[in-house]
Amino acid sequence: MKLGCIADDFTGATDLANNLVRSGMRVMQTFGVPTEPLSTEVDAVVVALKSRTIPAQQAVAQSLAALKWLQAQGAGQIYFKYCSTFDSTPEGNIGPVTEALMDALACNFTIATPAFPDNGRTVFKGYLFAGAVLLNESGMQNHPLTPMTDANLVRVMQAQTQRKVGLIDHTVMARGSQAIAEKIKQLASEGVGVAIVDATSNQDLQTLGPALKDMALVTAGSGVAIGLPGNWGLQSSAQASALPKAQGHQAIVSGSCSLATQGQVAHYKSLGLPSWQFKPLDWSPSEVPQQIQADVTKALAWAKPLLSQGPVLIYATTDADTLQQVQAKFGREQAGEWMESALAQVSAGLQALGVKQWVIAGGETSGACVQALNIAQMQIGVQIDPGVPWCFAPQHPAGHLTLKSGNFGTPDFFTKAFQILNEAAV
Ligand code: ADP
Repeated sequence: MKLGCIADDFTGATDLANNLVRSGMRVMQTFGVPTEPLSTEVDAVVVALKSRTIPAQQAVAQSLAALKWLQAQGAGQIYFKYCSTFDSTPEGNIGPVTEALMDALACNFTIATPAFPDNGRTVFKGYLFAGAVLLNESGMQNHPLTPMTDANLVRVMQAQTQRKVGLIDHTVMARGSQAIAEKIKQLASEGVGVAIVDATSNQDLQTLGPALKDMALVTAGSGVAIGLPGNWGLQSSAQASALPKAQGHQAIVSGSCSLATQGQVAHYKSLGLPSWQFKPLDWSPSEVPQQIQADVTKALAWAKPLLSQGPVLIYATTDADTLQQVQAKFGREQAGEWMESALAQVSAGLQALGVKQWVIAGGETSGACVQALNIAQMQIGVQIDPGVPWCFAPQHPAGHLTLKSGNFGTPDFFTKAFQILNEAAV
């Protein structure tokens, strides 16, 4: 294994893996730190943690456990991946995890940049922009868990880091890889431990790549990944995203209520394709677990005779008004947990009926379903839409899956996904 990655959330891990695959690496993603050695030969592994908003000490402990496993598999370089909006609190977890990894790797200098120009995240003079506006004007200042009220990443990183934080600015970036490498040496000799890096285009990320060749630890969003595979002589190739041929029945399980997903459900139904909807407003609060069980049984009985004819859609996706009513009836968190449990049970039932090709919509929903399907590792394949690739879980019961977070994907995503899988498989 060439590159070992530690990601602070599940869908962010897939985003990183997708960028590495598109730049020529064969990539495996794991959910949590594996307990066994790697099962397939790959160039990079992304260990997906859920460490973004947990207490910093726990995030550090989990990240160090991931590092240990990656090193045992022979990783030559470590990549700590966080969100492209640098989601963190003044206490962390980006700073503490970065420093713990630096200590463990005896690494005296690393970079930090969430830049991902393809998704509108750019860094200029150390300030992070989301689209056309500064981070703290982008809506992220109101985030419920990680409000980002300062767009100056040097300041933000310094607030959560013991080491001195510096900047490699756009004037250095414009002078090329050699100039960046020299700037890194200069900053390190001045006692800087972490440098924010300006990047406003994919070209900047490509230029940055060679300057990171000998850095034990790289910390970044998913964008920097596009410049790294070249350091091992790898170039984008269809080979990197090749997955085994798809088999088994097809199902779509959707628990996302984001606008894009609502559109995808509506589009799928408009084609006259079979769908079954959970209606939590019909549940009475005192008997929800029993009613979920009854609904799951009904949904599976409905799906069973249809599976041999093509994909079935089972969903909880609903519009904002209905969602509000459900949340008012059961409480926001409880409603979410129950829906996730219902969709996880449906997934396990569909798996028993022979489904081996999965489209799962929703970040939290994906977490619940992947657990119910007993999937610990997956190989990353061809991209369906930006940030959303097909994946293959090699362990029993093997299968193909794509995990689509909220607002990703075109309206025809559900049908397009299966079409791409069956065209792309080798
Ligand atoms: P997204 O990626 O769009 O944010 P998630 O799966 O992360 O989607 O989150 C959607 C949340 O909404 C989940 O907790 C899910 O269980 C919940 N949910 C889905 N449908 C309903 C519904 N009809 N009523 C209440 N909660 C729902």
